[in-house]
Amino acid sequence: MRLTVLAGGIGGARFLRGVRAAYPDATITAVVNTGDDVTLHGLRICPDLDSCMYTLAGVHDHRRGWGRTGETWRIKAELEAYGAEPTWFGLGDLDIATHLVRTRMLDAGYPLSDVTAAICERWQLGVQLLPMSDQRCETHVVVELEGARKAIHFQEWWIKHRASLDPLAFVQVGVDQAVAAPGVLEAIADADVLLVAPSNPVVSIGTILGLADIRAAVVETSAPVVGVSPIVGGAPVRGMADRCLPAIGVEVSAQGVGAHYGARKTGGLLDGWLVASGDTADVPGVEVRAVPLLMTDDEASAAIARAAVELA
Ligand code: GDP
Ligand code: CA
Repeated sequence: MRLTVLAGGIGGARFLRGVRAAYPDATITAVVNTGDDVTLHGLRICPDLDSCMYTLAGVHDHRRGWGRTGETWRIKAELEAYGAEPTWFGLGDLDIATHLVRTRMLDAGYPLSDVTAAICERWQLGVQLLPMSDQRCETHVVVELEGARKAIHFQEWWIKHRASLDPLAFVQVGVDQAVAAPGVLEAIADADVLLVAPSNPVVSIGTILGLADIRAAVVETSAPVVGVSPIVGGAPVRGMADRCLPAIGVEVSAQGVGAHYGARKTGGLLDGWLVASGDTADVPGVEVRAVPLLMTDDEASAAIARAAVELA
């Protein structure tokens, strides 16, 4: 069985662990958001790819929600001592090694998809991670700042300002020039089931679908498409989806996100929509099922993956 998953960072990563646990013999491919990517201190950083890689490798810090276990912060402290900006981004020593390898390969001319494959080789994930695109296509957030309307990088909005500034709009800089990375369109077209992870609908899934060729592939694939709601009981389980959805006029609920994704029959994304037990959704043309959706451990995540594939 070929399972392809659209994924962001932490929600995507935990779901991927569930898919792998539930279907160990399947060929699993993840198309991962790269809209959060950023260059800091000369290092190319891909937060969602790294969240997926570290989580699948079992070396992620579960409590912090990002980065490596056993991380240390000596380089970050030294950078701060030099007054080297920005100081607000968490860069751990172990994590920096990943960024150094990535940046070096990118500087040598390799595309991000090749670099990602090379970096993942070490970890033997059992899941192929594909960046959505080899081109830079970074999410910016339009905000009111110091009396002026400005577009700041997603990371600056999320980490430096802790999502405190009201987002007026999300903009994908470079999206018109960006195309799907090698393997992405094939993984969508050739899938037996296409799964949409419980990732942020705006700045993870929305970003991936912002690429015209990926959206077209999703609409056209013969595989059934089943999404998992990241909104449980009217709130995101973790993260800032409740700050992002209102900015695009979508209610923070399983119903709101399901309707926003829409039915594939009418040019939308979904054939099936898994919502959390206790939540409801009614989206014309979409089969809805309610199951427990908290990914507390691998077994819980695997049960969600099985429910999604069974619904498909
Ligand atoms: P990010 O890039 O690290 O923000 O991660 P994603 O975009 O992949 O995922 C963020 C989303 O994951 C948030 O909207 C959360 O509500 C959702 N999420 C996190 N943990 C869970 C969980 O246990 N169950 C469900 N259903 N959603 C979750
Ligand atoms: Ca992210």
